[in-house]
Amino acid sequence: MLKNKRALVTGSTSGIGLAIARALVAEGVQVILNGLGDADAISALCDELGATYQGANLMDAGAIAAMMAEIGPIDILVNNAGMQHVAPVEAFPPEKWDAIIALNLTAAFHTTRAAVPGMKAKGWGRIINTASAHSAVASPFKSAYVAAKHGLDGFTKTVALELATCGITANCISPGYVWTPLVEGQIPDTMAARGMTRDQVMNDILLAKQPTKQFIQPDDVAALAVFLCSDAARGITGANYAIDGGWTAE
Ligand code: NAD
Repeated sequence: MLKNKRALVTGSTSGIGLAIARALVAEGVQVILNGLGDADAISALCDELGATYQGANLMDAGAIAAMMAEIGPIDILVNNAGMQHVAPVEAFPPEKWDAIIALNLTAAFHTTRAAVPGMKAKGWGRIINTASAHSAVASPFKSAYVAAKHGLDGFTKTVALELATCGITANCISPGYVWTPLVEGQIPDTMAARGMTRDQVMNDILLAKQPTKQFIQPDDVAALAVFLCSDAARGITGANYAIDGGWTAE
């Protein structure tokens, strides 16, 4: 059903983005990968998926503009690249704040503004933004991430309204904790910020948020993304889908 569609999935060299890329490829989509990482590993991924790769650093608006010009019109845009930093607000490094806002929020603006004219010309498009449970609720020590993800939710709703009559939908997917390098990487800082052991962070901080007491699987997030790309989801726009084991129901 998604055959002959072209998708850019940002941050697709790892974690959730890679799962979304794999799931779209399985639906017949031509995927353009983006993200950081080892060149040989990325080349192997391209071979495996029959995908191409564009390695723009999404913290650089000029690099995003060049990437979007190079890849040309796309049908599906998945803004997924993201990063995290965990620290009390008074100790939060300003450069980390700037980086998180640039990657988790501003990059989605730059890719979207470049992708929309091509989608409008075709009268069909899907914009999916990987937000987070932190687009709806906050946690201590994640000021930049929570601000960026709340912002991404607002940005997505605005774009959805602007494009509502154009055959283009824009939605957020908001996972709870998914076991990926991004979550693994924040454990040491959380241990330091809260004076906890690794097990305490895993059970008392991360899984404590999720009534299911299970991490979300990247493939489950990817399945939701595929559904939002389907024609059955044509009436869903401006939505923010929680996939968080019940976290934000509390
Ligand atoms: P991840 O660390 O596995 O993947 C992040 C991706 O972003 C990688 O491909 C990385 O190379 C890419 N990236 C990082 N900096 C980049 C840059 N400057 N330019 C281009 N690409 C860059 O993380 P993940 O857990 O898969 O996270 C993906 C998205 O899901 C993020 O937006 C994250 O905030 C969101 N999210 C994750 C979780 C979770 O629990 N893992 C929960 C909610 C939301």
